[in-house]
Amino acid sequence: MDFRLTIYNKWKYQVFHGSGVALDWLFPPACGGCGSPGTRWCPDCQKKVQVIFGPICEACGLPQVNSGLCERCQQKPSAFKLLRSWAVFENPVQAALHRLKYRRDIGIGEALSNQMSAFIRQLEWPVDTLIPIPLGKKRLRERGYNQVAMVAIPLSIQLGLDYQPSALVRARETRSQVGLSAGERQENVKNAFLAGRKKANGRNILLMDDVSTTGATLSSAAEALYASGAREVYALTIARALPHHGLKIV
Ligand SMILES: [Zn+2]
Ligand SMILES: [Zn+2]
Repeated sequence: MDFRLTIYNKWKYQVFHGSGVALDWLFPPACGGCGSPGTRWCPDCQKKVQVIFGPICEACGLPQVNSGLCERCQQKPSAFKLLRSWAVFENPVQAALHRLKYRRDIGIGEALSNQMSAFIRQLEWPVDTLIPIPLGKKRLRERGYNQVAMVAIPLSIQLGLDYQPSALVRARETRSQVGLSAGERQENVKNAFLAGRKKANGRNILLMDDVSTTGATLSSAAEALYASGAREVYALTIARALPHHGLKIV
């Protein structure tokens, strides 16, 4: 992966960053994690992020006691090559993601991407294109924006990746995965994605979502990207919900 920022990317980044600074001036920010005034992402919250490291499943990145493959990956490998998540889905990251979902907050998106970029660089994945998991048409109309894009856009600029949100579309609305078992999750997102207008042909893709639990959504989306000619699909989420966060183990 070429992480050098080109002059063009630097310019794009300055415009993006500048729009955030202007927004801060117009609407003084509150911390996306704890709400304390005057900052988008306070030093306290930055320190409290539980970055995932240590023994994880080699394929899906699930924290576990030993390295090697987790039970689920042994039984049924996912379509993506690897999945890694930056942090555990607990506060302050949980609060920040909730805020991103309900407020179009460019500032907190950029702050999260700043803190995540070093984590992604050390993975040394040979990717060239960043694609966020898309919302369905109805949900996009209701919300007006894709919350994953709020982090994915600044990340793509910082990492020098081609941002291609239209390479993937949601073929149908899916119900929330919260409270579903691993098997129900797979069924819920089966064939939920299709290749978009832009083809993923020959690309090495970084596929990104906000939260993952079993990786079922990312695996289903990766299948659609492989079907449209992607070379490799690596998956990344901002946070990882661990089994006690609402996955029914069946
Ligand atoms: Zn804070
Ligand atoms: Zn696994």
